[in-house]
Amino acid sequence: MRQHDWCSLAKNLKIETGLFIDGHFVEALKGNRFDSINPATGKVLASVAYGGEDDINRAVAAAKQAWHSGHWRHMAPRTRMGILMRLADLIERNSAELALLETLDMGKPITDALTIDLPEVINTFRYYAECIDKIDGVVTNTAPEALHMIQREPLGIIGAISPWNYPLLMASWKVAPALAAGNCVVLKPAQQAPLSCLRLAQLFIEAGGPPGVFNVVNGDGPVTGKALALHMDVAKVSFTGSTAVGKQIMIYAGQSNLKRVALETGGKSPQIFMADLENLDAAVERAYGGIFDNAGQVCNAGSRLLVHRDIHDAFVERFIARSSQAYQPGDPLDPATTLGPVVTRAHQQGVLEKIKQGSLEGAHLALGGSAPAGMEQGAYVTPTLFTGVDQNMSIAREEIFGPVASVMSFDNEAQAIAIANDSIYGLAASVWTQDLKTAHRMVQAIEAGVVWVNCFGDGDMTQPFGGYKQSGNTRDKSFECLLGYTQSKSAWFNLE
Ligand code: NAP
Ligand code: MG
Repeated sequence: MRQHDWCSLAKNLKIETGLFIDGHFVEALKGNRFDSINPATGKVLASVAYGGEDDINRAVAAAKQAWHSGHWRHMAPRTRMGILMRLADLIERNSAELALLETLDMGKPITDALTIDLPEVINTFRYYAECIDKIDGVVTNTAPEALHMIQREPLGIIGAISPWNYPLLMASWKVAPALAAGNCVVLKPAQQAPLSCLRLAQLFIEAGGPPGVFNVVNGDGPVTGKALALHMDVAKVSFTGSTAVGKQIMIYAGQSNLKRVALETGGKSPQIFMADLENLDAAVERAYGGIFDNAGQVCNAGSRLLVHRDIHDAFVERFIARSSQAYQPGDPLDPATTLGPVVTRAHQQGVLEKIKQGSLEGAHLALGGSAPAGMEQGAYVTPTLFTGVDQNMSIAREEIFGPVASVMSFDNEAQAIAIANDSIYGLAASVWTQDLKTAHRMVQAIEAGVVWVNCFGDGDMTQPFGGYKQSGNTRDKSFECLLGYTQSKSAWFNLE
């Protein structure tokens, strides 16, 4: 579709704005609403129902009723599989509308929403649907006087709290495995992008999902999210967001019912370029894609570029020349646009502030570093590159969550590893080298949940995705993630 077609589709788009509880849209009990703003225009996109603690209680009660009815958890595995497969088909059929909602709500380029986010969401539901009848228990090797079975059971009610950078996808990474395992879910999306998950919940019912099994309550973190994380009937909170809020969620669990807490939090991922890498052009292309895609609002964004001194100048020169061609700020509804605005005006100001701090601390601003001229209506930040960065500078330590990369040079492998690991985070990393031994040594030495060799951001649903250190305590995607939404039950039979 062309830009013009997307714009007319946007004009005629029917946007759902209620809370989704027990299978239908309802108003918040107190009737409160909040605005969702389109960050490309600064205009109000929709007024959305704001759920308070009372609405969270209502949603959890609906989930509890659905849980106790047993309709979902005791459904024959392949019947449950069929519903989640139908949901994936419905998402596919409604891809254009869902992609448009993502773009209007949080500013990502429509081409990205359509070709990255939506296919990944569909994949996620299909993968976990396929897994449903592959969750096996075991019979252990005991003495003949006993029979010992270990079964896997769902946990109960899952509270999912998701971020705005990939609104549907990050929610799906929680909702799909939680539902596949037989749990009921209450989801609180981020207030900056509250719309697409409402449609997802509606499609679940259309696919044949029982009411109450999947509920969505929009609102904000400190009230709505907190009420969910403190709820005594929630068995697990699955959270993706900042490290600071992740720590808070653990406190809520301790203050309430010791619920399980799965956290996917921040990152400051290093991309390491050794002097012997095979193809500098290919490496540079992945380097800037790894930090400028989604305007840098990616948990595993490769924001630290560790470049061997021998290739430093050539790397930086190509990075600047090519990335400024490849990532031009534009209207996210134009299919040619590769760089949309960041999510809000406030976030834009925060990113620009961190850029200013980088310059003040003595780093060299080699590219960008401002709001682009002529695009003041939107929350844009130009692609930015700092060189001459020291690992102690704030731009090398703090997550910026915007299109801002920092180049640090190194002289040898040990130095590269030391810089890479000098972070509170450990989500992801990449290593570029032709040498097999170097690659294996570095994979071993790097403290990160995901290490890419001669690529960046690659993977499929079999890949456990999550962090070391303060990047989190869990893994999304993968079968391992699915098991995290189950618990074991040991049944010991006395045969004497
Ligand atoms: P955030 O501010 O931590 O918010 C994440 C979610 O938590 C939102 O739904 C938010 O609600 C909610 N929240 C905020 N305060 C809360 C509280 N006191 N109690 C309960 N919930 C609360 O993060 P964000 O700005 O949306 O997302 C960016 C962050 O997410 C980055 O740090 C990024 O690295 C991380 N992230 C990590 C991964 C990963 O897989 N590791 C993936 C994507 C993003 P409201 O926004 O509505 O207030
Ligand atoms: Mg919005």
